Amino acid sequence: MSTGLHLNSHADDNAVAPHRRSLLAAAAAALLPLPALAQAPATGARIPRNVVATVAMVGDAVREVSAGRIAATTLVGEGVDPHLFRPTRADIARLLGADAVFGVGHRLEGRMGDVLERVRAAGKPVVLMAETLPREQLLANEDYPDAADPHVWMDPTLWGNAAGSLLPPLATIAPELREGMADGLTQFRARCARLDAYARDAVATVPEGARVLVTAHDAFSYFGRRYGLEIESIQGLSTEAEANLAGIEALVAKLVARRVPAVFAETSVPDRAVRALMEGAAARGHRVALGGNLFSDAMGRPGTYLGTYEGMMDHNITTIMRALGGRVPPRGLYGRLAA
Ligand SMILES: [Zn+2]
Repeated sequence: MSTGLHLNSHADDNAVAPHRRSLLAAAAAALLPLPALAQAPATGARIPRNVVATVAMVGDAVREVSAGRIAATTLVGEGVDPHLFRPTRADIARLLGADAVFGVGHRLEGRMGDVLERVRAAGKPVVLMAETLPREQLLANEDYPDAADPHVWMDPTLWGNAAGSLLPPLATIAPELREGMADGLTQFRARCARLDAYARDAVATVPEGARVLVTAHDAFSYFGRRYGLEIESIQGLSTEAEANLAGIEALVAKLVARRVPAVFAETSVPDRAVRALMEGAAARGHRVALGGNLFSDAMGRPGTYLGTYEGMMDHNITTIMRALGGRVPPRGLYGRLAA
């Protein structure tokens, strides 16, 4: 197969890379359909290393940067909330036995901190992607003042930058990847740039008054900052504290006053409180739609488009902008979403 994106050999790679990069840049700028970009990079031989990722977004970044040659084991599965995830004994054994461990950090994996420290103390590479970004680019974390808001993957440009932190540890455990990884990172960042351009174009079609994103927990602040959406959530940055009634009442009042058309549930958080918002608004004569189910802290099923970072973000951007009254393609950026 020849997508123009896969790595046959270093020589071939070097020969086509500059041309390919300029194509990517041109496509990103022009927002042309470019379905090949949405596909996982074709792979050279899989390199057998025991790499563990805490959450799927991180595991996907490892796959992207290694051009599909390293498959990380992901601990937190589909629809599971990493804030509450408690590693089992088997997970702890897996972490302690890994060649390298990758996570997000800034307290996203609130109950894995101790074991990550143990892995680090054993001399293994442990990289927490969000913690490698300059602090001034990060938002505050009201739940944990010693940390920043961990949900950095919601801004594709930040996530593409953070993916650079994977290169040194991967090169340490798999030196044969060294050359291919720079190209894998370039391609991943080009895809992040394309998601970013898609979101910026889409939000421009949302009526200004409707640029309010109401979700179950506060995972979307980076998304809101990047795309100019006001963010409201029922729970805070972590899902550990319960939603409170006064907070829900205040949000209902806001929905009604602003005539916000839709609110959103999340695949990894129960939707009870979101439904309470909708009922509260309806009781005051304002019908709020359920805009859809967003991927906040977990991705879709592994092996599907929604089980990739790119698919997750395409789904989120498309679902949010459509429900808020914007114009987006019915099946998303690459035509790969369910209509
Ligand atoms: Zn979260």
